[in-house]
Amino acid sequence: STKLAPRMRRVRPSPTAVISDKVRALLAQGKPVINLGEGELNFDTPAHIKRAGIAAIERGDTKYTAVAGTAELLAAIAEKFQRDNGIAYTSKEVIAGTGAKHLIFNALLATIDTDDEVLVCAPYWVSYPDMVALADGRTRVLPCAAADGWKLRPEVLRAAIGPKTRWLILNSPNNPSGAIYTHDELKALTDVLLEHDHVLLMADDIYEQVRYDGAFFTPAQVEPRLKERTLTINGVSKGYSMTGWRLGYAGGPAWLIAAMNTLQSQSTSNPSTISQAAAVAALRGGTAFMSDWLAALRAGRAAVLACIARCQGLSCSASEGAFYAFVDCSRLIGATTPDGTRLHSDLDFANYLLEAAHVGVVHGGAFGVEDHIRIAYAVAPATLAEACRRIEAACAALR
Ligand code: PLP
Repeated sequence: STKLAPRMRRVRPSPTAVISDKVRALLAQGKPVINLGEGELNFDTPAHIKRAGIAAIERGDTKYTAVAGTAELLAAIAEKFQRDNGIAYTSKEVIAGTGAKHLIFNALLATIDTDDEVLVCAPYWVSYPDMVALADGRTRVLPCAAADGWKLRPEVLRAAIGPKTRWLILNSPNNPSGAIYTHDELKALTDVLLEHDHVLLMADDIYEQVRYDGAFFTPAQVEPRLKERTLTINGVSKGYSMTGWRLGYAGGPAWLIAAMNTLQSQSTSNPSTISQAAAVAALRGGTAFMSDWLAALRAGRAAVLACIARCQGLSCSASEGAFYAFVDCSRLIGATTPDGTRLHSDLDFANYLLEAAHVGVVHGGAFGVEDHIRIAYAVAPATLAEACRRIEAACAALR
């Protein structure tokens, strides 16, 4: 009776959720753990957005809506794509869902046939391979080198595409590396895809607003000829500090949006009406709050870089976007902890930081790149400073 479906063998719990669970367990034991494993900003959702959610409740906007979202939200999403990205989507080419995560899952579920391949650039967001596996597909990992700024090279893409290739997933700004593709770098990749019209392109732009310098481009904007096979994923989670509201959106060809709508209609239905109203306010309300947020994030990034520079055996370059430091710990593999334990892997190092220093980070293996850890630095400055002190002490104690 406790037998699970075979597909459950293909999926692991999200490693970031595992870290958070471990942190919660240690906190429950009274241990003063700092969690730098969570992928979210510590800022409050801006007041005008919260007010829109409250107003929706008080107005009685608490009933089912169209599965893809209210007409008003779909219009706000289309406006956003036109205004920020120069992409014209009709109301049939956009959809809102319960987080970008669920939209990505639905898109894969709607399109992948058994053993179809999905090209995923490493380091990658932890969920792509498991979602592909749940959709009966296969992930083909395309390694990206630190020396290339963790970006996919066009010749690597060209060599990887085969008859079974269904999707390429690009994520810029990248979680965990923070890499942002320039216009020309994207163009070089879209040029390759133009040669292969059986391949769909998913652009995961969820960190679009979290950039320290430089412009943002998305593939459907860079190469309009690919618009008919590109799904542009975005959401309010990261740019508006709204992770808990669970509201993502996507733009893409009508056939694909319709299929995602069908899946949504038989699973979650519409995203929360309260979140939809808040998302309208977010998308139409400007980003005046963002410069303060970015100043705080820049300070966090600088604090982590300074900490890493003081830790012998660790190294890291400055992220261009998102709020993670992807730290090379290869020189610490093989080191011995004060209690005599040997660190055999990045996972061992992450566990050591958690148990000995009470700092939660995610090991690079979870993102497809070993010998690294990911430090999420969007936490309060004092918390980050304390975490940095502990990381330095823990590294100094290694032999
Ligand atoms: N894509 C990437 C790269 C992410 O890092 C995340 C969240 O961590 C998501 C998508 C999902 O965001 P949402 O909260 O909209 O589901």
